Amino acid sequence: MAVKQILIVEDERPIREMIAFGLRRSGFEVREVEDVSAARASIADHRPDLVLVDWMLPDMSGLELTRALKRDKDTQEVPVIMLTARAEEQDKVMGLEGGADDYVTKPFSPRELLARINAVLRRTAQAGAEDVIDADGLVLDAASHRVMAGGGTVQLGPTEYRLLSFFMTHPERVYSRAQLLDRVWGGNVYVEERTVDVHIRRLRKALEVFGYDRFIQTVRGSGYRFSTRVA
Ligand code: CA
Repeated sequence: MAVKQILIVEDERPIREMIAFGLRRSGFEVREVEDVSAARASIADHRPDLVLVDWMLPDMSGLELTRALKRDKDTQEVPVIMLTARAEEQDKVMGLEGGADDYVTKPFSPRELLARINAVLRRTAQAGAEDVIDADGLVLDAASHRVMAGGGTVQLGPTEYRLLSFFMTHPERVYSRAQLLDRVWGGNVYVEERTVDVHIRRLRKALEVFGYDRFIQTVRGSGYRFSTRVA
């Protein structure tokens, strides 16, 4: 899994540095800014996987930043955790209504914050898995377990569906047969590696009708890759 990037928006330097230190040590990549305008610039430059935003900031409130992020189509999927010294229930409600995914009250322990971050990332990753993925017109709808192309439904067996779903959620990367068995079939099932080829063939055949079989690419000596680019 790729390293997750977290943007910390906090003007109190000791707190910001303490959080950043803990998160870096836990394997996150961290960016630090001290106000809303710097946060906006940072997000425009590089979309983080999660934003930690303090409520009280020098130029605008963290709540306003949260609202703005959740209003903008480009950033509304980015999870936001609000940090605040204000423990009142009313503030918590306002923060969550403003679109924050969670809310942590100061003082908090680095461990507590880390647990909240991981919980929010897990939750949003699952929500993302329900999304519709569109790869140049080949559309995977995870909620209904359907794959559409050119206005029609691609007829897939359950294994081919799982295989395609895995590929479309992990595009542009090569997976060996052993990795595919592990990720698609599950590591505890004994299946010969040849089986992968059989299902790849079936998947390509189903996609061929719509001209999308070219997305399932053989990488000689390595395995398979899903890519919308020409192999
Ligand atoms: Ca502050």
